[in-house]
Amino acid sequence: MARILIVEDEEKIARFVELELSHEGYEIDKAADGRAGLELALSHDYDLVLLDILLPQLNGMEVLRRLRREKNTPVILLTARDAVMDKVAGLDAGADDYITKPFAIEELLARIRVTLKRHAVPSGAAVAMPVTNSVTIQGVTIDTDRHEVTVNGVPVELTNREFEILRQLMEHQDIVQTREALASAALGYDYIGESNVIDVYIRQLRSKIDDRFNIKLITTVRGVGYVIRD
Ligand code: CA
Repeated sequence: MARILIVEDEEKIARFVELELSHEGYEIDKAADGRAGLELALSHDYDLVLLDILLPQLNGMEVLRRLRREKNTPVILLTARDAVMDKVAGLDAGADDYITKPFAIEELLARIRVTLKRHAVPSGAAVAMPVTNSVTIQGVTIDTDRHEVTVNGVPVELTNREFEILRQLMEHQDIVQTREALASAALGYDYIGESNVIDVYIRQLRSKIDDRFNIKLITTVRGVGYVIRD
């Protein structure tokens, strides 16, 4: 079973998450400050790190940066509700995902499963596989290292914002993304109810991908948002 490190100084949260994750069968280690967390993360091969941002000793962003110099251990950041810039900076610094506190445990479990699945190396192919950050669904491949999107090998030109929205959807396969989530993750600001900026980007993506290649990639979930399913 996967081994998860929780770096969180709020003891109540850390203990609650530990209990829930242990109950799911994960093996858990905990650290209550950034320095201890970084040391553990560097000296053990965790399958995932849950990393709070506001930490004593060394803040979460710095832990993430130092960890990324040496390792690709998947990291999910625990962020405060209105810390949009933290989320953007965190993703830019190499976090795999973030979850906003307070969170429902089901949401955290879902994100952990998705992140672990995304990082699982297919057995037998491990040695020969080059290290790439790409996801393929229905013939559509998004390569976040090369910043490229192809459909059955044919390159598709996307703007940065279209790319980030597609990435958010593809990296959270089967998890419905609200417009708010797409906006704050991909655009870096909180979504403001009426201007359906996300809908515009989705329309553009559909015209460049779904319509052009005659596939049904992006599904609308009425009243909620969008999802990409396999
Ligand atoms: Ca904290």
